[in-house]
Amino acid sequence: MGDSISLPGGDWPVLEPGWVWLCGAGPGDPGLLTLHALNALGQADKVIYDALVDEAILGWAPQAELIYAGKRGGKASASQRDISLKLVELAQAGHKVLRLKGGDPFVFGRGGEEAQTLVQHGVPIRVVPGITAGIGGLAYAGIPATHRDVNQAITFVTGHDQSGRTPATLDWQAIARGSQVIVIYMGMRHAAGIAEALMNAGRAADEPCAVITSATTPRQQVLETTLAAMAADIAAAGLEPPAILCVGRAVLMRQALDWLGMVAGVAPRNPDPLGRGRPAEAS
Ligand code: SAH
Repeated sequence: MGDSISLPGGDWPVLEPGWVWLCGAGPGDPGLLTLHALNALGQADKVIYDALVDEAILGWAPQAELIYAGKRGGKASASQRDISLKLVELAQAGHKVLRLKGGDPFVFGRGGEEAQTLVQHGVPIRVVPGITAGIGGLAYAGIPATHRDVNQAITFVTGHDQSGRTPATLDWQAIARGSQVIVIYMGMRHAAGIAEALMNAGRAADEPCAVITSATTPRQQVLETTLAAMAADIAAAGLEPPAILCVGRAVLMRQALDWLGMVAGVAPRNPDPLGRGRPAEAS
């Protein structure tokens, strides 16, 4: 911790006193941070961060006071309203505020609510997108989010709503029919219910699924399973959140594209998991 990293030459924006920059920190691996986020880390005097933000990333803001706003890890949890108002207060006190959130701030992270509160209080903001766990996690598991032979659509859903239950507002029938690949955030606790809803909507019991925990971190684990077996396999493997679930035949591509496995010396299990022979020429 404590080393600052210099940005490549360029005209980087200045984080002015009284502003809040709402930045994504990516899914875990510090290398997946954007340069705009790094630029913010170098300038902020207050960094308000979430539970899923890596320590190494925080180390790139040695000059800043670090304020924990997470909702995990046994520390006291701040309410969403308290966090939003804290941001307003810090900005109005003339601080250069970096609000750092896991993944992308506007994907299942309540960044929209924080941004709205800031705007309602007249606080100027900048938003820096990040690599969301559903995209970065899939890539680190060797699963292409789209693949011409598998899917023309991908759907990102949350596995629980404000009350902590499987969201009743989701039309699982429509999702099951309309999207060959489905990526579920915050779904591990409800894996059984989600799998059942998808099977009731016509998805096959033996459809390939992956559960990716602590994606892009050194603790990443990937469980390959099927819709019918997913919940029991999660329990048997003793997996812990955070996790994303991926449902769909794209998961099979991991047999060829588990590049992290290859880095560790494991040969691809199957170079042609979809049985299509050589990849088609670009058309
Ligand atoms: N804004 C974040 C999502 C916040 S919701 C983003 O864009 O990624 C928190 C959920 O994100 C977790 O419950 C989990 O489903 C997912 N998640 C975040 N980081 C993850 C990681 N490193 N590995 C697996 N899932 C992750």
